[in-house]
Amino acid sequence: MYQLLDGKSMSATIKEELANEVRSLTAKGLRRPHLAAILVGDDGASQTYVASKEKSSHEVGFTSSVYRYSANTSEEELLRAIEFLNDDDEVDGFIVQLPLPKHINEQHIIQAINPDKDVDGFTPVNVGRMVLGEECFVPATPMGICTLLERYNIETEGKHCVVVGRSNIVGTPMANLMSRNRKGANCTVTLCHSRTANLPAITRQADILVVAIGKPEFVTADMVKEGAVLVDVGIHRIPDESKKSGFHLCGDVKHSEVDEHCSWVTPVPGGVGPLTIVSLLQNTMKAYRRHMNL
Ligand code: NDP
Repeated sequence: MYQLLDGKSMSATIKEELANEVRSLTAKGLRRPHLAAILVGDDGASQTYVASKEKSSHEVGFTSSVYRYSANTSEEELLRAIEFLNDDDEVDGFIVQLPLPKHINEQHIIQAINPDKDVDGFTPVNVGRMVLGEECFVPATPMGICTLLERYNIETEGKHCVVVGRSNIVGTPMANLMSRNRKGANCTVTLCHSRTANLPAITRQADILVVAIGKPEFVTADMVKEGAVLVDVGIHRIPDESKKSGFHLCGDVKHSEVDEHCSWVTPVPGGVGPLTIVSLLQNTMKAYRRHMNL
């Protein structure tokens, strides 16, 4: 029988920890940590993500602000917005919600963010520091997964961790973090992607399997080793007339047949997602403490 890596309840615990921290800071007369977000265009998923980051910020007592721009905003205008937030002494950290409209070069935008306020950990400076094992902001999704594994005391040392998906925001940093010489890591890591030959033969070797490919229910029972720790990053809305909302959520893993073969499983929803948001808040608290010299 497998056990749940319960991201929902763990995120509630961490939010409570952060809220207590904010209470003790404000009791000393200090201002609240401030997380800002830039949202460009009217993509539904992006709006939902930003709204949920805003809600979570308020829950822990942070100040939160959202700068909204229309889909036809120019790259220059966006760069000016970033310059403004870089210089705003009252803002500790900010994110630019991705994806951006096609006419805007995402790399130009990311590179313009002050690394000290880059709480998403996407700037080249933070990515470089992460790869070197230096103090940095780690991208929220892999950071959340590491937190889940650590707080559930999942043994990682010497284990084979297979990461499927090599995006800059999930798979690549995840593989890096699990391979590092530190507590909660020290894995032997294999990073797979769409050109990997004979993927099931590799995923079947995984003691810890992290799946982040963006394909609904792609990983099936024949791809998983008995007793594996399974982390499913994927999240998809599947049209479903039987639901009041008109859809149900699923991950990149076919949980109905895979879970019973595992020792630990992140559910979808309620696994990785809540920890991602909480990690962004933790990064903002870290940025605040640095900024305020605390
Ligand atoms: P991307 O689309 O950026 O990357 C997908 C990766 O999967 C690519 O590296 C791609 O390979 C690889 N891939 C695609 N198809 C296959 C295949 N058939 N076999 C092996 N590898 C494959 O996705 P993200 O990393 O941004 O996101 C992945 C999933 O996680 C999505 O469902 C997303 O919604 C979800 N997500 C969830 C978050 C959360 O908080 N829960 C946060 C971020 C993402 P290649 O590089 O060769 O193209």
